[in-house]
Amino acid sequence: MTDKSQYVLPNSQPIVELDCATAFKALTEKEKLYAHYFSQASWSGGLIALVQSSPESPLIFSLLHRLFLAESTAELKKAALEAGVGEDEFTAFLVYACGFLANAGNYKGMGDSKIVPNLEEDKFELIVKNSKAFKTDEPTVGRLWNQTKKPIFLLSERTKTLGLCDKGVTTYFSSNVTREDTELISEWMKANKFEAYICRTFKTLEDGKTVYNIKLASAETGDKDGLTKPPVEYKGCVFKITRGDYNELMQKVVDYLKEANEHSANDNQKEMINNYIESFAEGSLDAHKTGSRYWIKDKGPVIETYIGFIETYRDPVGQRGEFEGFVAMVNKEMSAKFGTLVKNAENFIKLLPWGEDYEKDNYLKPDFTSLDILTFAGSGVPCGINIPNYDEIRQDEGFKNVSLGNVLANTNKTDTIPFLSEEDQALMKRYKATAFEVQVGLHELLGHGSGKLLRVNEKGEFNFDRQKVKSLLDGAEISSWYEPGETYDSKFKSLGSSYEECRAEAVGLYLSLNRDILKIFGHTDEQEISDIIYVNWLLLVWGGVGVAMELYNPTQKTWLQAHYQARFVIMKVLLEAGEGLVNVEETEPGKNLLLKFDRNKIETVGKEAIKKFLLKLQFYKSTGDVLGATKMYNHYSEVPEDGPYPWAKWRDIVLLHKKPRMIFVQANTELPEAGTVQLKTYESNFDGYIQSWLDRFPSVEIDEILERVYEQNKAYFADLY
Ligand code: ZN
Repeated sequence: MTDKSQYVLPNSQPIVELDCATAFKALTEKEKLYAHYFSQASWSGGLIALVQSSPESPLIFSLLHRLFLAESTAELKKAALEAGVGEDEFTAFLVYACGFLANAGNYKGMGDSKIVPNLEEDKFELIVKNSKAFKTDEPTVGRLWNQTKKPIFLLSERTKTLGLCDKGVTTYFSSNVTREDTELISEWMKANKFEAYICRTFKTLEDGKTVYNIKLASAETGDKDGLTKPPVEYKGCVFKITRGDYNELMQKVVDYLKEANEHSANDNQKEMINNYIESFAEGSLDAHKTGSRYWIKDKGPVIETYIGFIETYRDPVGQRGEFEGFVAMVNKEMSAKFGTLVKNAENFIKLLPWGEDYEKDNYLKPDFTSLDILTFAGSGVPCGINIPNYDEIRQDEGFKNVSLGNVLANTNKTDTIPFLSEEDQALMKRYKATAFEVQVGLHELLGHGSGKLLRVNEKGEFNFDRQKVKSLLDGAEISSWYEPGETYDSKFKSLGSSYEECRAEAVGLYLSLNRDILKIFGHTDEQEISDIIYVNWLLLVWGGVGVAMELYNPTQKTWLQAHYQARFVIMKVLLEAGEGLVNVEETEPGKNLLLKFDRNKIETVGKEAIKKFLLKLQFYKSTGDVLGATKMYNHYSEVPEDGPYPWAKWRDIVLLHKKPRMIFVQANTELPEAGTVQLKTYESNFDGYIQSWLDRFPSVEIDEILERVYEQNKAYFADLY
């Protein structure tokens, strides 16, 4: 028996609201309609991710959806408890349902491992068989239960994780496809200049020959010149391209996109959507690429969207895209504040400790947008996006870099925050989003936007006065700079991204002390200002203590995430500053830590320490002194085994307190008779989360579609269960 503990979600699973009400309210009626229909398209298409996750997922969705649709969770619970299901067991059932919906199936969107219910099969069965759905439609619900009970619970070596053939579960290939098959398939595709983003491949044996059916996702079925291909022989096997995968769901996406296009903002958006429609209707990847080109040209739209087969992480071969669709809005209030910051950027940059010699002649605004997510359909909600993924478009035409503000700033208001006093936890919950807004603006706009690289050109001309400009560290002459053709990335290589994130974070901390800047963000009350500054600094140091170690690999002594390495480094800088500014101690041996931060010393000890640190960061960056930078940065990144702060040992404590990934309750948009779009929000608990899905899909029509999708494909996965 496998220990199932690592495959279940805990009953304490946090559910938090993805709040976008402020941004939504600021939209015009036309924009709201556009957002509404694009969301509908996204949610319908998002169910494809379910089909892509595992063969059984469409049926599990149908089963759960039918149970919840027939009665309230309170009624379902009452019947289950009367039948002998325990309170905790019923909660575990709800957690499973929420986790299943949030991950678009019974495999984790991040990590690919299977999710099984944390209750026994007989108890799950009691819930099903005492439900109103079962009692009113026993043939359907009973059949769904019989078909899904084994796949829901089975934790064999193969079903534990996503993967190919005997190594895991995938629906991107039929279950008989081996690694060798995929190599042949990739080879044939390459020879035929075919990219796999929108297809799946099913292998069958016909008349003694291996047949690979490459099936394109499309609403239309049947052959079409230029897209499908009749059977051809290649190395003794037969290849053919057909279409119509997920056709009913694709048709829904197409229909909603057509409605959305009635409300698009301009001709560019219209063309973008027309191409998506062509792509999804016909099964044309080229049309999606064309749509993506229009998408890049749609700069700074009020409503940002993207839809299609995008990220390839979950295909074991890394070529087939998982369906996702999103709708996000520029937070007009936040953008206005960022705009004022940019307008005054040159004045604020002057406050940075390195002075004008190390600053660019003209401030260049970095490419950065912060959006609030209204809808994100797919196997999980990311905190930022950098798309499209098509290489040729990224290289020649560009991409967009977007930070998803309401995902990043989200706070779990009910759970405890480890390693902090009660008082600090309360402050953090109250001011996290506010402090975060200030820090993100400063980090992105003045952090990444500041500082100059000292360089020489081909003619031997320097872009700085060699007589006047001296070292920021000891006043000595400048002895290194960037040669022609050298860039920050080419010199700093793997150190570069974390080092630069660290510089941007430190700029944010330093400038967040400035009252004029805080005024731009609307903060004038001195007590509130003091709280916001404190929470901003505390948040960063806490990230270094409470999270960073999760993203450090102790065996390879490597950091897995640039931002958290940066936070760890800043935490160590402030710890090293001494004078009681920051302290971390082990309060229960092997079990718990306590982070203490003396807020009265931020503007003295803290400011001075960050100032000195910024001088080092900027000096090494400006002069391209990689050796100096590496030595300094590695010193702070070090994770010692012992001493007063044995971080390597404390890593186990940090992991002990690790929180499960949050599940976001997303709002729905509704179109009442009167024609004005309304935002419907939900309580951040299991009931609210489930209700949001019922409102999204209010009838069993969607279940019937998913059951048909299952039927169409089941033969390809027959040997799995
Ligand atoms: Zn950054």
